[in-house]
Amino acid sequence: MQAKIKQLADYRGIVSDAIIDEIGVKARELKGATVVHVNATNFGGGVAEILDNLVPLMNDIGLRADWRVLHGVPDFFEVTKKFHNALQGQDLVFDDQELQLFKFINEKFARFAFLDHDFVIIHDPQPAALVQYVAHTNPWVWRCHIDITHPSAQAWSFMEPFILDYQRMIVSAEEYKKPDLRIPQQIMAPSIDPISPKNMDLSEEVIAHYLDQYRIPTDKPFITQVSRFDPWKDPEGVLKVFELVKQQVDCRLVYCYNMSADDPEGVKIYERMLATAKPYLDSGDVLFIRGDDPVLVNVLQRTSSVILQKSTREGFGLTVTEAMWKGTPVVASNVGGIPTQIQDGVTGFLVEPLDLDGCAEKVVALLEDTDLAARIGQQAREYAREHFLITRHLLDYLNLLLSLK
Ligand code: UDP
Repeated sequence: MQAKIKQLADYRGIVSDAIIDEIGVKARELKGATVVHVNATNFGGGVAEILDNLVPLMNDIGLRADWRVLHGVPDFFEVTKKFHNALQGQDLVFDDQELQLFKFINEKFARFAFLDHDFVIIHDPQPAALVQYVAHTNPWVWRCHIDITHPSAQAWSFMEPFILDYQRMIVSAEEYKKPDLRIPQQIMAPSIDPISPKNMDLSEEVIAHYLDQYRIPTDKPFITQVSRFDPWKDPEGVLKVFELVKQQVDCRLVYCYNMSADDPEGVKIYERMLATAKPYLDSGDVLFIRGDDPVLVNVLQRTSSVILQKSTREGFGLTVTEAMWKGTPVVASNVGGIPTQIQDGVTGFLVEPLDLDGCAEKVVALLEDTDLAARIGQQAREYAREHFLITRHLLDYLNLLLSLK
């Protein structure tokens, strides 16, 4: 596949000229401004996906954008995954050693990462404490990508003093705003890049080549969930829904997964799922496919009859957007950022996370009615075009930076 560095002009024809022109005007006002994004991994998960696309484009339009990855160690990532889970609502308790390790890794990184850019954007909880270890007068923004509506009390009371040191907090949906937080908060939806290898159009030849190379049979329809092996993505639930669907329509399940450097839970859950799904893996009706190649993910999202996203919590759910953009109908849980993308019955189907029968019923309806699937898919694509492409996101960032100047 021919790789090419993207330019803003490449998006003409995909999005409106008006947005490209507005980006051009705002970018001129910020020409040469330095901005740094800091997160905890350069691979795996939605944040890395976004930065990988957004940072080069910021540079193309004249900013001087930088991306730093916090240097963690395995024990630190155990603690930060625990924070992730506690902030998303699990009842977990941290001991002093864990809290000290969290602060120590942040303090150490602050000693060798110079974050004296005009704007500093810190993503998610892992590097959130940096704000207290770097003396600064420049604006710092905390960009929180997870669902923090019901955090465990200890996790939030530990994290809140760091958050209060930021100029602004950004979340993905209205309900994530904290009513009593003493700093300004705003919403910014994430985005996908329509011309990245993950989302670009693919020829029939490329699709056939990938299906063949990864031995994905097409003699029956398949449904897919693309997700890390994470408890919030409910892999067990995905399997149960598949069992219910299969009683009515002969099909396969593809679970496309990758591992993220800052998520140590993945391997354990993968091993558990290997045991749980063994009979289906042996019969070839369930395939666990490692999705490190973005073109493979693209192929799966395009060729699946239905995309599932059975999460029990979901900050936003880029996998939903990715499928919507490809015109593949999505059945997803009515949680977190998913309902900002899916209007039930219009741009996909929403189901309650515990309602396995309801979820299976929607999947079956889409498998049996190709007109319905095509209509939902087409509506989803147009909704994604309007709301969740990278150009809108880039413009949101320009507006944010201008408001912080
Ligand atoms: N992803 C991938 N390969 C996989 C599984 C996931 O490339 O096997 C990508 C997926 O396409 C999406 C991102 O990882 O771009 C996941 O983002 P999302 O917001 O859905 O969930 P997160 O992992 O951030 O909780």
